[in-house]
Amino acid sequence: MPNNSTILSRRELLKSAGLGALALSGIFGASHRAYAKNAQHVVVIGGGIGGATFAKYMRFADADVKITVIEPNKEYITCLRTNDVMVDLHTLDELTFSYDTLRNNYGIQFLFDSVSDVDFDKKQVRTKQGEKLSYDKLVVSPGIDFRFEDYEGLSAEIANTQLPHAYKAGPQTLLLRDQVQSMPQGGVFVMSPPAGEFRCPPGPYERASMFAEWMQRHNPTGKILILDPKNTHSKYGPFRKGWERLYGFGTDNSMIDWLALDEGGKVTQVDPKRKLVKTENGTEIKYDACNVIPNQRAGKIAQHLGLTDASEWCPVNRNTFESEIHQHVYVLGDSTIADAMPKSGNAANTQAKVAAKAIAAELKGETPGNAIFSNVCFSLVGSRYGISISAIYEVRDGLIKPKGQSAGVSPIVDSPAQAALEAVYQKNWHRTFVKDVFG
Ligand SMILES: Cc1cc2nc3c(=O)[nH]c(=O)nc-3n(C[C@H](O)[C@H](O)[C@H](O)COP(=O)(O)OP(=O)(O)OC[C@H]3O[C@@H](n4cnc5c(N)ncnc54)[C@H](O)[C@@H]3O)c2cc1C
Repeated sequence: MPNNSTILSRRELLKSAGLGALALSGIFGASHRAYAKNAQHVVVIGGGIGGATFAKYMRFADADVKITVIEPNKEYITCLRTNDVMVDLHTLDELTFSYDTLRNNYGIQFLFDSVSDVDFDKKQVRTKQGEKLSYDKLVVSPGIDFRFEDYEGLSAEIANTQLPHAYKAGPQTLLLRDQVQSMPQGGVFVMSPPAGEFRCPPGPYERASMFAEWMQRHNPTGKILILDPKNTHSKYGPFRKGWERLYGFGTDNSMIDWLALDEGGKVTQVDPKRKLVKTENGTEIKYDACNVIPNQRAGKIAQHLGLTDASEWCPVNRNTFESEIHQHVYVLGDSTIADAMPKSGNAANTQAKVAAKAIAAELKGETPGNAIFSNVCFSLVGSRYGISISAIYEVRDGLIKPKGQSAGVSPIVDSPAQAALEAVYQKNWHRTFVKDVFG
């Protein structure tokens, strides 16, 4: 069994404990790398987009550092493109990635376990299964948690069984797919996007779009009603233009209706037994299928470790992503406060690269430089109709802001070729993006 204070290399483990590789593989996703005894140790909590990218780019930045990722699941399913899974354009299998390449080609160790606590004074991580790992630098990229308490009648249990948010990829993705696809003809699908900061700001509107396209073919008299706790949303103009072109938005026959906050769109209560939601102004709305995507905050472990502030997100130094609360601890991805950057996989990926460079510099006693980030978020309004939002970001006055005139959304033009090409770019981008993270 591994030593209690540090993770040893696989070779050391085999020698000291006399265990076969088979026995070890249940605990560690072993890499084939032997580390120097005095190698510095970077421990990563979470093998999602932020954590996996970080581990790989940490290896690029420092060939000798010991890197261990702690992650409960042996495979990662991307949320990216799960809106396609719901309309049968992808399977979850196609969105599932193993850690084999990171392990075998980059010498990164994986411990398939959950972190339960960290002793910041001792610089030691503890896991659910009782492992203890010492670190020189700790990276935390645990994604999001949901504020179910903002909705009367909603809980994690109800989301798992009756009202899937489907905002973490997995069984809920398939449950929502099945619920919408089995609605009666002419049925109503109610969607409630989150308020405040949340993962993938265009995600709910892409989801509505993909279901609208599916319903045009399979349930043409059905309706999608978006009850929004906001008065606007990401890519507002391009989504509307697409909805007008594809789904009759704004006409009496529109497949999609959208009720803004000021029009009474905020859902405050759910009643899955009676299949209705209640809005802030007391209106009850019946549904045949329903997708409440709850308000969000930093991943549970980030909250538990005290890495969050009053906003329930994690404040960080924007040039390094080191926590403003705990030294030698870095927070990446959706859990962080990243100002103008959206909570996207692409943002987590670019933040991870910045943090890897900064940590490599610090481990060598050097001062990290200034960060530059980039992000592009593609969304589909239909399977052949893409739109995007993108920007390059820099740190100015301590905050992450778009650099110069780099920020922009897809222009609203009358050429159908523009949207068709963006749908193709989206597919190509996704293919290379997941290779950058896991390949
Ligand atoms: C429908 C949808 C569509 C999307 N489409 C896009 C897109 O097209 N482009 C894009 O850029 N982004 C997209 N996103 C957003 C993207 O999925 C997230 O922004 C991204 O996954 C954030 O990365 P992360 O590392 O912060 O969190 P995650 O990728 O969620 O990773 C967190 C990891 O931490 C692990 N973890 C949690 N707690 C612990 C613990 N205690 N111990 C150990 N491990 C732990 C989890 O198991 C998980 O693997 C989409 C999201 C959704 C919901």
